[in-house]
Amino acid sequence: MTAADVVAAVVRPEIRALTAYAVAKAPGMIKLDAMENPFPLPEPVRAKVAAAVAAVPVNRYPDGGADAVRAALRVSLGLPDSVGIVLGNGSDELIQIIVSALAKPGAVMLAPEPSFVMYRRNALYSGMRYVGVPLAPDFALDTGAMLEAIARERPALVFLAYPNNPTGNLFGADEVERVVRAVPGLVVVDEAYYAFADASFLPRIAEFPNLVVLRTVSKIGMAGLRLGYAVAAPEWIAELNKVRQPYNLNALTQAVAPVLLAEGAMLAEQAVALKAERTRLYAALATLPGVTVFPTQTNFALARVPDAPRWFEALRAAGILVKSLHGWHPLLLHCLRITVGTPAENDALLAALKTLR
Ligand code: PMP
Repeated sequence: MTAADVVAAVVRPEIRALTAYAVAKAPGMIKLDAMENPFPLPEPVRAKVAAAVAAVPVNRYPDGGADAVRAALRVSLGLPDSVGIVLGNGSDELIQIIVSALAKPGAVMLAPEPSFVMYRRNALYSGMRYVGVPLAPDFALDTGAMLEAIARERPALVFLAYPNNPTGNLFGADEVERVVRAVPGLVVVDEAYYAFADASFLPRIAEFPNLVVLRTVSKIGMAGLRLGYAVAAPEWIAELNKVRQPYNLNALTQAVAPVLLAEGAMLAEQAVALKAERTRLYAALATLPGVTVFPTQTNFALARVPDAPRWFEALRAAGILVKSLHGWHPLLLHCLRITVGTPAENDALLAALKTLR
């Protein structure tokens, strides 16, 4: 018997049918594919990070509760004591934790489509039945279709990315509220891009017994730390903590995150700079012949181009990595997702795009 034979005999067929989530390699390239913050840390902050890392007792397990990180987040977000917070190794891990806590046999996960692909993948990992509800052609939430699907499917779990990835737009707050009130189970409002958006449900947690707000520090300059957080009523946090691995947040992340979260002015300045660059990029993309750019409240822009696969390859040949979403979903035909970079990176992107037809 070979390893392949045993794999075929015991690994679930739906897992065997998957391909692993592909992370593109981009050595030496202008990296505009993953919604990272493009600014390196200023030297004085690097020195503080180095000192914090040097002091970590790596021979010991980290603090299982990650108390220092939770405290730093509570301060920087101004969270009241009445709400709970749980941390994850990226918000990716929190999605997995939430799904595995709710995946009763036969339970349904529902999400609009296209949205963040990890929702559906986690439904599959945990054996939830996944129901996707198409967005309107302008990527707005199709509230009628959502409410109808909710009434029919009675989902245990609904994910709403607010703003949405990969479309970039922010759903109407009233529509989101109607969905939250209609869902018999839990609604996760995923605010990965909150730093670039005009609205948030974080201050409204107490209004809804079935709301978790999910966030990440990945888009504000700390993607390498792998730190996400979920905020909700303490009753929800208590259950999620039972599913969380005891030491899910490593000691180096626990040491560094509070140092960076204390740099509130730096983080705010970078968000302002990226929003200004987003405005500039959006305006420039809109003037390109044959290009449609969609409104965004994130640190990326979604653009429909005449030939996404060809444009993706031409940009790659020019040393610029973006994300082609062509083939992902009918609504994303010939769409490229372009992360907002530094002014120089955006200039290089626009110069390369101007040569394409
Ligand atoms: N949610 C959304 C909507 C995202 O776009 C992403 C990152 N692409 C994540 C969650 C996961 O972020 P992380 O695991 O880096 O916290």
